[in-house]
Amino acid sequence: MSTQHNIDVDVVVVGAGFAGIYATHLLRTKNNLTVQGFEKGSGVGGTWFWNRYPGARCDAESIVYSYGFDDEIQQEWTWSERWATQPEILEYANFVADKLDIRQYYRFNTEVASITWDEETATWTTTTADGATTVSKYVITAVGCLSASQVPNFPGLADYRGEVHHTGAWPHEGVDFTGKKVCVIGTGSSAIQSIPKIAEQAEHVTVFQRTATFTVPARNRPLGVDEMALVKAAYPALREHAKTTVAGVIVKQPIGSALELDDATVRAELDARWASGGPSVMNAFTDTMTDMEANQITAEYVREQIRATVKDPATAALLTPDAYPIGTKRICVDTDYYETYNRDNVALVSVREHPIERIGSRGPVVDGVEHDCDILVMATGFDAITGPLLRLNITGREGLPLSEAWAEGGKSYLGLSVAGFPNMFTITGPGSPSVLTNMIVSIEQHAEWITDALLALEEQGIDTIEATPEAQEGWVSYVNEVANTTLYPQAASWYMGDNIPGKARVFMPYAGGAHTYRSICEDVAGAGYRGFALSSRDRAPKVRVPVA
Ligand code: NAP
Repeated sequence: MSTQHNIDVDVVVVGAGFAGIYATHLLRTKNNLTVQGFEKGSGVGGTWFWNRYPGARCDAESIVYSYGFDDEIQQEWTWSERWATQPEILEYANFVADKLDIRQYYRFNTEVASITWDEETATWTTTTADGATTVSKYVITAVGCLSASQVPNFPGLADYRGEVHHTGAWPHEGVDFTGKKVCVIGTGSSAIQSIPKIAEQAEHVTVFQRTATFTVPARNRPLGVDEMALVKAAYPALREHAKTTVAGVIVKQPIGSALELDDATVRAELDARWASGGPSVMNAFTDTMTDMEANQITAEYVREQIRATVKDPATAALLTPDAYPIGTKRICVDTDYYETYNRDNVALVSVREHPIERIGSRGPVVDGVEHDCDILVMATGFDAITGPLLRLNITGREGLPLSEAWAEGGKSYLGLSVAGFPNMFTITGPGSPSVLTNMIVSIEQHAEWITDALLALEEQGIDTIEATPEAQEGWVSYVNEVANTTLYPQAASWYMGDNIPGKARVFMPYAGGAHTYRSICEDVAGAGYRGFALSSRDRAPKVRVPVA
């Protein structure tokens, strides 16, 4: 435990999702540091606490989208379906929070208003919305990548007479669509999961689509007792294997280059993966995400499925994506999405040529037509990755707000540490693999790396750790370089910040693979935290080694 006297706690942790739960657990049990956690919601679960819209499920399979650090937890918990529902994942988060007795370290219903570095005392002051302050030596942000909901600035929205719900801030009591006319804006993952469920209940659903989306069938199914028993027996090996993969998941490996394999082999592979369900079609070939011609082979395959499923040719044409390479906007995983457009009570309105002009008192207005609805569902996404961090109003050295440091995009060393923001760590921050991987695997790796670093530093009497500007620049360039070897930058996506007006256009996650990233982080730690400035308050900086 720290010997600093002017602090309330050693560490402030922001967020009680999977990242905050595990980081807090490690800080208490491994580091023996005092922790104050803050959570805006009334309970744990993070993204799964807020995204309670109908049909919400994880697009990573439940047996891998779960913690691997504790065998007791994984042996006691039993998943009921291949792709877990939001309620089941939230129940799991609560189960883990109970097991680890984690809630005692958190103040719930408590939003962080600002976090400010004090140069004199080398401490952070976290101010919450209720005006209370907490002084700490370290701050760890565990705010997730997709927690800052984004509602477009539609004129007239305030005067709309019906209910408005964003998928990312869904009412806990649910929304009853029975007998209601519903308009859904957006066709990303949240819309694609919720539209079929809403359509089952509502009198009528109108979907407003700006960009047609590629989605693949989940082929969800129950996990039987015998299957779960096998998984439980294999868990230690499965977890170790997941760490060695690009995305931290267990998927069938690519069979080769789509351009080099013969057509029949390519077709058979896509057929098999389409039939088995989930996003593994994206992983069928080595060059899907790096070569446009190869990409179009998989894209065309999915387009064919859409045309074969949607009965009305005009609707099928509108639903067929042509604006970006498949996978460069996150692939969606659905249950009966395309089939839903065969229902009589579902209509699709393209807002590609004619954007939503305004929200009238009765509903969205497109091309002069007001679409009457009782409930307006905003499935309009998030200010991703940097948004949740910027909303914390963090100010670093010399009074520099994070918003200014990041005016040209989220700059960070390893996605873990920002130059000018000492003793602050960002779990799954910009420049780390985060959203391109199984988030729980990436969260575990970050929480373990950060708490190992704190252990080493505390033992050596180091007071501050901070990315050097040189190391940060080097990492940002490398992240961009890697992104530019892929097709990702070719889409207007939230990965690139395109969905937020005025946001810098930068590919935010590290696309080099979770396995590669893990070994880079291990290497940095092994080299005495290369690229970090480490200093003691009574001495000049001890180590200042630029990144190799
Ligand atoms: P999203 O992918 O960003 O989709 C937002 C949708 O709203 C897009 O279709 C977008 O159109 C549309 N939109 C935004 N502003 C608009 C405007 N002014 N007019 C018309 N349309 C507008 O958001 P999301 O669906 O919430 O998903 C975000 C991410 O969360 C996913 O990519 C995924 O990583 C994660 N997620 C995962 C799951 C899962 O695990 N299964 C489920 C839900 C979400 P454009 O495409 O034209 O911008």
